[in-house]
Amino acid sequence: RTVYVNGDYVPEAEAKISVFDRGFLMADGVYEVTSVLDGKLIDFGGHCKRLARSLSELAMQNPHSDEEWLAIHREMVARNDIVDGMVYLQVTRGNPGDRDFAYPANDVAPTVVLFTQSKPGLAESPAAKTGWKVISVPDIRWGRRDIKTVQLLYPSMGKMAAKQAGADDAWMVEDGFVTEGTSNNAYIVKGNKIITRALSNDILHGITRAAVLRFAAEAQMEIEERNFTIDEAQKADEAFITSASAFVMPVVEIDGAALNGGKVGPVATRLREIYLEEMRKAAI
Ligand code: PMP
Repeated sequence: RTVYVNGDYVPEAEAKISVFDRGFLMADGVYEVTSVLDGKLIDFGGHCKRLARSLSELAMQNPHSDEEWLAIHREMVARNDIVDGMVYLQVTRGNPGDRDFAYPANDVAPTVVLFTQSKPGLAESPAAKTGWKVISVPDIRWGRRDIKTVQLLYPSMGKMAAKQAGADDAWMVEDGFVTEGTSNNAYIVKGNKIITRALSNDILHGITRAAVLRFAAEAQMEIEERNFTIDEAQKADEAFITSASAFVMPVVEIDGAALNGGKVGPVATRLREIYLEEMRKAAI
């Protein structure tokens, strides 16, 4: 694999990052994951915009313009022969040369790393036909989940708890209400209505969420942005999650309770189809 480190495209084995990098020592960094379908980037503009916001919220410099980011992403797709897959991008506060809680001066350049993951047939995932099972776990993350930081230990623990329970993911619950999945936004469906938590600092502002809600509105579905409980979710007609890498993924079981008779539902299926069709058209 060819990876990108601070301006250079190098073989994975030759890439070097300092042990003093604040991304490594303090999870002081942000990331984005952009899907690639047929060699093209999905919703790249959305990811660029959120990256700029994450950096700005942490008072970090954005090392590149959107045009430069696009060129680097395209180069990575080309050099790694990615047809379907992902481009991962990470920007950290860089290497101040020592460990210190205070931020370094602004002359310390951010560290920029990109790598790709090849996932042939990404959009035809068999899981989309059978759906995911989710369990619930308490949401004990920090209070700025709107910033896409590389601080992913708790979501990683949630994913492991799900695996150990024979499920596919965990929905996190705070004050009795679902916040989001370990790496995705959560939705329930009641009739023609789609219910999902409103945007705030409590959840990541999913790029896929924005697109899917737009397409749902265009398809005359009703959208209710509000909190919901696990209990309400278990009684819903359908449920699903969205993320840049899973697109729209139906959820068929929540804490052991089957939805729609344990089968993937029509609303999630339709939204997945619309999303993939529209996003493929707009891919760059
Ligand atoms: N919430 C969390 C916690 C996530 O990690 C992600 C994926 N990075 C999402 C939601 C979905 O965001 P997106 O649609 O932009 O991938």
